Amino acid sequence: MDGMNVVGDLFGSGKMFLPQVVKSARVMKKAVAYLTPFIEAEKQAGEKSSKGKILLATVKGDVHDIGKNIVGVVLACNNYDIVDLGVMVPADKILKTAREINADVIGLSGLITPSLDEMVHVAKEMQREGFAIPLLIGGATTSKTHTAVKIEPHYSAGPVVHVLDASRSVAVVSALIGNDDGTRMTFIEETRNEYARVREARANRQSSKQFLTLDQARTNKLRLNWSDYSPPVPVKTGIMTFEDYSIEELAQYIDWTPFFSSWQLAGKFPAILQDEIVGKEAQKLYNDARSLLRRMIDEHWLSAQAVAGLFPANSVGDDDVEVYTDEDRKTVLVTLRHLRQQVQKAAGQPNLCLADFIAPAHTGRRDYIGAFAVSAGFGIEKWVAKFEKEHDDYHAIMVKALADRLAEAFAERLHERIRKEFWGYAATETLSTEALIEEAYQGIRPAPGYPACPEHTEKKTLWQLLDVDTHTHIRLTESFAMHPAASVSGWYFSHPEAKYFGLGQIGKDQVEDYARRKGMSVEEAKRWLMPVLNFEE
Ligand code: SAH
Repeated sequence: MDGMNVVGDLFGSGKMFLPQVVKSARVMKKAVAYLTPFIEAEKQAGEKSSKGKILLATVKGDVHDIGKNIVGVVLACNNYDIVDLGVMVPADKILKTAREINADVIGLSGLITPSLDEMVHVAKEMQREGFAIPLLIGGATTSKTHTAVKIEPHYSAGPVVHVLDASRSVAVVSALIGNDDGTRMTFIEETRNEYARVREARANRQSSKQFLTLDQARTNKLRLNWSDYSPPVPVKTGIMTFEDYSIEELAQYIDWTPFFSSWQLAGKFPAILQDEIVGKEAQKLYNDARSLLRRMIDEHWLSAQAVAGLFPANSVGDDDVEVYTDEDRKTVLVTLRHLRQQVQKAAGQPNLCLADFIAPAHTGRRDYIGAFAVSAGFGIEKWVAKFEKEHDDYHAIMVKALADRLAEAFAERLHERIRKEFWGYAATETLSTEALIEEAYQGIRPAPGYPACPEHTEKKTLWQLLDVDTHTHIRLTESFAMHPAASVSGWYFSHPEAKYFGLGQIGKDQVEDYARRKGMSVEEAKRWLMPVLNFEE
């Protein structure tokens, strides 16, 4: 399998692009399947065929696995045996399997912030159960700092390494379990020292940022001029459902740029197709994606489903939004709890909270808010499984990546219909796909878990408001990830001044206030808000 080591090396050194690597993996995996009896014979003769066994898993409560699939393929190309347990894998299953297969390395992946905590849990369990093999940490919300500060201290028995992306994974794994004892010791020691420095720097950190108290931040809220503004009245309020939505229609709304970044090709679409370095590869990938998408549509590989709703709403007590059952605005259906920026702003800049974009109840203005949950991920498992069985990782990953794109496209298309038809405040809007992607329209659709509203449990409120479980097959995991992975949910705000922002870090006073408003313990609130706390627990 030396040929595949060459592929891995070329990729690692930037001379080969990820789609090429993933495509070539098929040839290799087929060869391995064919050669297995011979390899077994070699093993019995005492010859080592694989460089080591790597167990990969997306942790409990999390569903995203494209990045992890890619790491698996790249490592397989370098002659490592990969056992991928898939998504939503509890700690006990990970450790049990690691023991059964005699894993040399465990790699954990996660996309949403609650997964950070779950990874700490897995590390503690590894320590408790006497493991000493290397633990790799990867995925969108993970970081070197989190790995050094939160994970490594709980697993002193073995090395813990944060792996930035697939192209780094080979170098890290080969240093960790390669034959060269010297390299291994040096790498482990250097990583340990580096993580110790990260912890130290953090402990001594003198934040250059100044924070306001929650009261001060609220005093400096955004005050829109409600006396001269009448919020648009929806054409249609209440819940709307969309069954088996046309994939053909959604395909026209796809933002292709993130598709290329999921294949680690950087650049904006469509310019990327002409790019001097990645253009040729990007064009090939795009052609393949287009023809697969065509098949997916023609042969009805997947189906899309959505629920949305528009409701009377007003903001109350600074940071909350009450959603009412009807225009009497007396019976509260649900209350949304939002968070407010606390970092000291430049003079004249407000400390924002999403609730600022909704008319306060005391103004007497009748405002509205919307909510949505969309998915384009129904039916893909069958196709993913088929391709995986054929060792065709390229198409297995492509199906998932296209389903993700279609879900985002659905969110875009439904938002457009909300503005034009159902809320109706932009009935005459005509924007190109590019203009939609650039958000050239009035209003926003912030998504729980994203920077303006990073706290994931608010999805529970969204689910309750729209009764998502009854109207669709989209489900929330215990960490509030959406399943299927190709799903999007969020709120609709109509105000022309409504914009996306990042919450930034918040203080203990807001965490305590938030816990009280949410009816949770301060400990629990801290857990959900961990990545945005401006203090050490
Ligand atoms: N065209 C992109 C859209 C995804 S990113 C794609 O196809 O991938 C944009 C979405 O992320 C927004 O529609 C919103 O739902 C969410 N978002 C972006 N910035 C946000 C912020 N600061 N706070 C909350 N949600 C945000």
